[in-house]
This record gives sequence, structure tokens and C-alpha cells, in this order.
Amino acid sequence: IAALALTACGRAEPGTSSGTSGAAGGFAQDSAIGVALPKKTSENWVLAEKLFNEGLNSAGFKPTVQFANNGVAEQQNQISAMIAKGAKVIIVGALDGSQLGTQLQQAKDAGATIIAYDRLLLNTANVDYYVAYDNFKVGELQGQALLDGMKAKKPSGPYNIELLAGSPDDANAKVFFDGAMKVLKPKIDDGTLKVLSGQTTFEKAVTQDWKAENAQRRMDTLLTGSYGTASLDGVLSPNDTLARAVITSVKAAGKPLPVITGQDSEEESVKSILAGEQYSTINKDTRKLVEHAIVMVKDLQAGKTPEVNDDKSYNNTVKTVPAFLLPPVIVTAANVKTAYVDDPVLGPLTK
Ligand code: BGC
Repeated sequence: IAALALTACGRAEPGTSSGTSGAAGGFAQDSAIGVALPKKTSENWVLAEKLFNEGLNSAGFKPTVQFANNGVAEQQNQISAMIAKGAKVIIVGALDGSQLGTQLQQAKDAGATIIAYDRLLLNTANVDYYVAYDNFKVGELQGQALLDGMKAKKPSGPYNIELLAGSPDDANAKVFFDGAMKVLKPKIDDGTLKVLSGQTTFEKAVTQDWKAENAQRRMDTLLTGSYGTASLDGVLSPNDTLARAVITSVKAAGKPLPVITGQDSEEESVKSILAGEQYSTINKDTRKLVEHAIVMVKDLQAGKTPEVNDDKSYNNTVKTVPAFLLPPVIVTAANVKTAYVDDPVLGPLTK
């Protein structure tokens, strides 16, 4: 009976959605769709802007895709404007996933479906779906790559390492760090790994705004403070931008390069792996992630419930958000020539 009532009235009443619905009845094919992106802190975000515009336009929707380079208030205003335009779906790559509660409530009240893109939206019931690469898995792969890389250079420990994390306002940063620490912490505890600076917590390891200059400054300080004579064997870097900052810092200090992890498969870092400098990156093909977010929008438009493949991993403190997770792939010199065969930019570069 409930289903019939929904069909009869064409769409769920605003505000009555259970949180995972939003699908009932669908909406017009030329509807407004909002995409709120964070700052341009890495190449993946810049590419996402282009792909969302192209993909949503060619499906007949009217997209508004915006960056929040000036901060949280800008992203809040952008989401409010998307609601005012009547957006049926708002896709959010949050600058700060815990600062959008008011706008997400307004979006829900207006009947929009909310999809968290790449970064989870925290402390709110008003997020319907999450589409992302498995962030915890990214961290685990980084931690394991760090161990493998050091072992390949020097068969047994102890190894001296330092830890970098991403920006504390990005919900992913802690997840990446926790994933890596799941692998590294037991080795720190048993003495295989030594963090000479003593800075082993997320709070100490963070890099505000994911800025290269902040990572480089911290690395300079760590090298001067703790590695005057000691060797540095490895650095956990959460992404490629910061990995290259670490390389710059270590080179400036005149030290041999340690094993350094990364993420995003940025062009410069893939070149660095080919040149034997950066040790690893993660392949999280942005084209696939955007494509999947758009599949969700199309399903919602057609009145179908979007497919999810994980309903237990990503709890945002208020609810466990139904997620579609894609698998991240570790890339090192060992597979760099085969990892990007169908990537239009990295494919030719790594041939
Ligand atoms: C993304 C990473 C990216 C970082 C900085 C994160 O939320 O998942 O791929 O490196 O933001 O832009």
C-alpha cells in the first residue's frame, strides 16, 4: 500500500525519506544536479570537475559543478544555491565533512538526494549514499608498500620511519592513516619500526589543507631534529603531492631518498616512480568514480534504488551510509608499466 501511495503521488514527500530512499518516482531527465567539490588540492579533483560536467550534460541533466577554494562558508553557500535551483541530487565532495549539517538538512527538506563523493559526510542523517574508493584499504596498501619497499632495500630492521597524514578537516585523512597504522602499529610496537621524532599520532602527523609547503616544512624540521646522523628508511605519505614535498625536503637535506608512499597516480609522481624516486602510488581512476556517481544519479532519475556493495563499513557517527566502494590498486616500479594501460594520459607515459 505504501508503495502504491508513493507511485500515485509521484515522489516521496520532502522530509519523509528514510535516508536511503530518495528513489521513489524519479524526476525529470533535465533536472538540475549539484556537484560541490572541495579545494583543488590534487589532480583528481580537477579532473572530477571536468568529468562531472561532461557526463551529466551528456545524460541531459543541468549540472552545477563548483569548487570551494575559499573555504567552508563558500561550500555551504554553494550547496544552499544548488537547493534554491531545485537540484534533485546533490553530490558532495566535502571540504569539511562535519560542517555541512545545516545545508544537508535543507537539501533533504527540499526533497533532494545526497551522495557523498570520495569523502564521507559526517555527523548527519542526511546523506543517502557514499561512492568512493575504499579509503581504509588505501591506507593498508600504503602501510604494506612502505614495509615491502624497505625490506627490498634492507632485508631486516629496525627501520627508521616518519609518518605524514592528510588534512584534518578531510574525513578521509584519518581513515587513510588508520588503515596504514593497522599495518604499521604492530611493527612499531615490536621494535621493527622506529619513529625517531616520536610523532606517531594522527594529530601530530597531519598536513593542514593537504599543502605541499606544510609537509615540506614539517619534513625539514624532522630531518634536522632527528636525523642528523641517523638514516631515514621510509616515509608514510598519504598522497602524491605530499610525497613529492618529502622528496624535495630530503634532497635539500642532502640525504639518500627513503622509501616514500603516495596516492592518486599524479603524472609527476608516476614519472618519479619510473625514475626510481617515489616508491609507490595508488591508482584510484577518477573516471570510474565519477562514472559511478553518475550511474547513481541516472538510477535515481529513473526511480530505481542505486546499487551499493557495502552497508557496514562507513559509519558517520549518526548512520552507516550505504556505500559503493571501488577497489584501490597499489602501483610501484614492479607494475607501473601495466597499471595504466587504459588511461589516456598515463598509458602513453608508462609504455
Ligand atoms: C582524496 C585523495 C586526495 C586528497 C587531497 C582526498 O580526500 O581521497 O585522493 O589526495 O583528498 O586532495
